[in-house]
Amino acid sequence: MLIVKRANYLTSAPSIKEAIEEGITEVAFLGRSNVGKSSFINSITNYKNLAKSSSTPGKTKMINFFEVVFKKDDNDFICRFVDLPGFGYAKVSKKEKLNWEKNLTKFLKERNSIRLFIHLRDARHINLESDKNLSEYLNSIKREDQKILEIFTKVDKLKQKEKSLLLNKFPNALLISNLKKFHIEKAREVIFNSLFMM
Ligand code: GDP
Repeated sequence: MLIVKRANYLTSAPSIKEAIEEGITEVAFLGRSNVGKSSFINSITNYKNLAKSSSTPGKTKMINFFEVVFKKDDNDFICRFVDLPGFGYAKVSKKEKLNWEKNLTKFLKERNSIRLFIHLRDARHINLESDKNLSEYLNSIKREDQKILEIFTKVDKLKQKEKSLLLNKFPNALLISNLKKFHIEKAREVIFNSLFMM
């Protein structure tokens, strides 16, 4: 059985320069503001308030690091979750936004410890330009030892027919609901396997 034995907040950094040292396997979480990223990190780790919700758009432009210990068959597996806010902030200036995105893309490209990119998307809005751009960007920088996982959140809001359409369009995507705890265990397993069962 796979569980998360422990998860704790490590630190936050305003840019790659101030980020904590690499070395431990990392998962990068990306997605537009309000997509359900904090909720997903909390669901996966089974904590109510590990990742803070970005309720003040534009304010929480930090890279947040968490240490997460998985446990499977009596063995511990340590990794870091890297929560990267910053896509789709409505309330910051264009210049600020560009600066941040430059910072962010540099981080994604240069951070060697990242083994998995988790791109969170809102299941109700599957054709957003910003998601398309992020997806293309991640695919363009992805190394051999890295994976990308697309996760659609808030599927509790979809009708069965809409779910089928979504899966037709994104056959490799995972559909989850933080609210109904749908496919959370599955997501935990996919993340664990991508990191440790190569
Ligand atoms: P973040 O800005 O990406 O970190 O998003 P949050 O985790 O703060 O979630 C934004 C809002 O969406 C909050 O009001 C959450 O309660 C809600 N939310 C998150 N996940 C789900 C989900 O799976 N289903 C539904 N219906 N609402 C969700």
